[in-house]
Amino acid sequence: MLGSMMEVPLNVISIIRHAASNHPQAEIVSREPSNQLHCYTYASAYRRICQLGRALARLNLQQGDRIATLAWNNYRHFELYYATAGMGLVCHTINPRLHAADVSWIANHSQDRVLCFDRAFLPLVMELLSELQSVEHFIVLDDSATDWPPARVDLQAYERLLAAESDGTLDWPTLDENSPCGLCYTSGTTGKPKGVTYSHRSTVLHAYASALPDSFRLSARETVMPIVPMFHVNAWGLPYSLPLVGARIVFPGEYLDGQSLYTLCEQQQVTLAAGVPTVWLGILEHVKKSGHGFSSLERALIGGSAASESMLHTLEELHGVEVLHAWGMTEISPTGAVNQPTPASRQQPVETLAFKKKQGRAIPGILFRLEDEAGEEQPWDGKSAGHLLVRGPWVVDTYAGGIAGARPDGWFDTGDIATIDPHGFMQIVDRSKDLIKSGGEWISSVTLEDAATAHPDVLEAGVIGIPHPKWVERPLLVCVTRDGSNLDAQALKAFLSERLAKWWVPDAIELVERLPHGATGKLLKTELRKQFAHYILPTAAANELEQP
Ligand code: AMP
Repeated sequence: MLGSMMEVPLNVISIIRHAASNHPQAEIVSREPSNQLHCYTYASAYRRICQLGRALARLNLQQGDRIATLAWNNYRHFELYYATAGMGLVCHTINPRLHAADVSWIANHSQDRVLCFDRAFLPLVMELLSELQSVEHFIVLDDSATDWPPARVDLQAYERLLAAESDGTLDWPTLDENSPCGLCYTSGTTGKPKGVTYSHRSTVLHAYASALPDSFRLSARETVMPIVPMFHVNAWGLPYSLPLVGARIVFPGEYLDGQSLYTLCEQQQVTLAAGVPTVWLGILEHVKKSGHGFSSLERALIGGSAASESMLHTLEELHGVEVLHAWGMTEISPTGAVNQPTPASRQQPVETLAFKKKQGRAIPGILFRLEDEAGEEQPWDGKSAGHLLVRGPWVVDTYAGGIAGARPDGWFDTGDIATIDPHGFMQIVDRSKDLIKSGGEWISSVTLEDAATAHPDVLEAGVIGIPHPKWVERPLLVCVTRDGSNLDAQALKAFLSERLAKWWVPDAIELVERLPHGATGKLLKTELRKQFAHYILPTAAANELEQP
């Protein structure tokens, strides 16, 4: 016997349709490259999304085709999220901060057929042109395409595509709720990045669960600024969960320095802002220097890496801004846990700030399991650390291209080591991988080691993360050079600068006699970390804290 309710497939376009009907006057404000503010309503956004849907229909695409974006957080990027999903296409957000070779590798791997990009990324797209194998349509997110140099392809301007379409609503195709709507690549822990393809079902369920009072506590009465980029796990799903509840949205565009973000927050009376710790550090540094406070900000959503105790102290105790500490990953759409108190947790004899350092309880829909090395389940006693496993409707099963994600028993190993207390509050205590977390983005130590050993004079290389006051961690490269070589750190850095994205270049290079190895001949990173435990990076000096 089955239940007798309507079978309505979960569908991303229904979110914005709901917002346009029920919160037609709620605003979406975007900071444009000119620094002017663009402001319109959910009703106007939906009209343009329908126009964009019609324009996409003319490009002769098949359902499931990937539409890549290289764009900041702005209203056009938001429109693309919905029009692509509505038409049965897949919005593939690519991180423009990656090295050009990685961007083209990812676009080729996912066989993107269309590339939409902010005008600011024109030089990057020019550099990629000869590498992109599958892209047929290039669309600049602007109103004209005049300064496209002679090339093998036509460039179309987004606004012209829209202007050519009639106004009025669109009959969106009926889609299977398990069909794909979004694609993000992980940052490549062991080799190449892996694609995670989100479905309509997973995206809608994640939006519902993350909006709940004990998750991000979103509502129509909030003004929310997603600082976390729309190319970083869909800005934590906020472009879906905010219209779901009808919240007012403020997109900061490309202006991500502390002063610009603080000014926008104040001007627009933002009540909740979401970003990685590095972004919050920039805002708090500005606030400290200027001596101002927050007149509207009630809550700070922090995730991507651990919020430090001093950040928690500054926000909560100095500025009265409540911190929502959250944990997630690309493979979990991304939200897995949020730290919101329960009556029982409030009775705990722990200091509030130490407690806030925990990443929180699983949001409804996500299950946690802790295992030791042998696969034995570990108790939730707040002390036993184990591999953190998750399962749920918005957790990856298989990566793009059929690469295995979840284990055959249905659990996904996050690669994080955690404890969980008796109230369900999880805390990340370590990561089992060796990635370096710089400003909320990953840097693959394997890639850096490969780049270093590509130098003919480098015999062996090991890269570890060193704590950094602004970027959380920055890479230190430790190298053994070949006998007789007179290669120095400066020359090696210049060599790497030609091969790596600027922010991937190690902050320091140390040349040593030998690197520590384990019994099987593998480099022992644990030992290397011990050797450099008190290392201070040259970029950690106060006057070097600008954007790498
Ligand atoms: P990504 O897929 O790039 O979002 O990275 C996911 C990883 O970031 C997780 O597996 C964690 O190691 C780390 N991470 C995310 N949020 C937090 C947090 N609040 N505290 C500590 N680590 C975090």
